[in-house]
Amino acid sequence: MPAPGETLLIEGALVYDPAAGGHEAVAADIAIERGRIAAVHRLADGTRHRAGWAGRRLDARGKLATPGFVNAHYHSHDVLLKGFFDPEPLEAWVLNALPRTYPPRSREEIRLRTLLGAVECIRSGITTVQDMVTLFPLDADRVDAVVGAYEAAGLRAVIGLQAANVSPLDTVPYWRETIPAEAQPGLLGPAPDLRGVPEPLGLVESEFRARRDRHPRIRWALAPSSPERCSRDMLERFGDLARRLELPVVSHIYITKAEAVGARLRFPEFGGSLVALLKATGLLGPRTALAHGVWLSPAEIEDVAAAGASVVLNHMSNLKTKNGVAPIRRLLGAGINLALGCDNCSCSDCQNMFQAMKMFVLLAAVSDPRAGPPDSVDALGAATRGGAAALGLAGELGRIAPGMKADLALFDLADPAYVPLNSPARQLVYAECGRGVDTVVIDGAVVMENRVIKTVDEAALRAEIADIMPAFRADAAAVIARNRALARHFAEADARAWAHDLGFSRYLAA
Ligand SMILES: [Zn+2]
Repeated sequence: MPAPGETLLIEGALVYDPAAGGHEAVAADIAIERGRIAAVHRLADGTRHRAGWAGRRLDARGKLATPGFVNAHYHSHDVLLKGFFDPEPLEAWVLNALPRTYPPRSREEIRLRTLLGAVECIRSGITTVQDMVTLFPLDADRVDAVVGAYEAAGLRAVIGLQAANVSPLDTVPYWRETIPAEAQPGLLGPAPDLRGVPEPLGLVESEFRARRDRHPRIRWALAPSSPERCSRDMLERFGDLARRLELPVVSHIYITKAEAVGARLRFPEFGGSLVALLKATGLLGPRTALAHGVWLSPAEIEDVAAAGASVVLNHMSNLKTKNGVAPIRRLLGAGINLALGCDNCSCSDCQNMFQAMKMFVLLAAVSDPRAGPPDSVDALGAATRGGAAALGLAGELGRIAPGMKADLALFDLADPAYVPLNSPARQLVYAECGRGVDTVVIDGAVVMENRVIKTVDEAALRAEIADIMPAFRADAAAVIARNRALARHFAEADARAWAHDLGFSRYLAA
């Protein structure tokens, strides 16, 4: 586990500077003390500061330094399912990745999958991840496995223990009608024995209180899965916790058209709006980050903006689960803080902010051919400062400036993506694919250097994962077979939901 507080001088890097336009980089030394950036010395001003430096030095000549990326929406629970699926509608995929549908996983499997996801993030220049992790059953041992893995990897994590208490049969429109009655009791698999398992929100609060000051890189968020997947009582209790503990709130909202249709059908008292439901339960405010928002209506976008909440866009998973494209230009126009996420490993299937940034810029063209934002500098802002602000870490993360946490990525400028170097911003967003990430610093600790992860023995990790995969694959095969047998019923429910006219669409007309 890297100790925070390393004293480090990163020498001679070209530093990405959005304040200077983003298209030129300034050669500088970055001085790091006690996990924070102490100074950024421009080399044009001389190198006298180097003479008295007593700590470690890292030669960064030929490297481009950027703030570490914030992966603002992710789930570590299905890391082992990457590569299992091709695109399919979310309603057909989701039960395959839902921990509740699997036999409870061992603490060791949870540790290994969390570590593997953390390594992938670090290798992609991600220094903070918001892990909206579902642990089933949710207990202190399993939480400990997740926290321990992030501590060991050295990745900064904002952990939200995802909770829900309404059956998908009551949240996904038309599943009650279309799924045969005899299949409904076993939809989520055999009923587990939950005797002795603590009540979720009580455990969320007690875990937060027990662990909040334990490690500087671990933060906490409250994570109702999605407004419609929690009872009114559970949402109000989350709202009460958010007020009392002053924690950020992360929630999914409107990934699919079916979710928007379901809201209209199920919540007439809130005008059919999940945003109104969040507001009524105290869960919509400046500390709220809503993931996806593909099917937010124009009026709801204004409500989210008025509340000062953030939206975390996840274009890769939205497209892989056939949900259309979030209204990027309208969200920007409303002045909403936007962040970017890479979402589940089985509907994305990678933790790669370069793909997320490129999609963010390019997919704006789906709905609006006019010139205008977002551009490459906007994308880098959403992937760094936007994510930090969404998670309540504005002022701590997202910039290379004195006083900020020392979370940085260094890129190898010898990579073809940067030859010739014309614009750091544009080449990071349009040309980089992750290949150039060379060195990563988190909290002042060098967690990857010259592409070697310093905190995790990757060969041992691969071997340990190979050992657990036969049992995992057998369980996954059973879950997937159970769901495949219901595929035509999911499709029938989808067709009925999609037939509704919401007055707006997130699909292009064919
Ligand atoms: Zn998600």
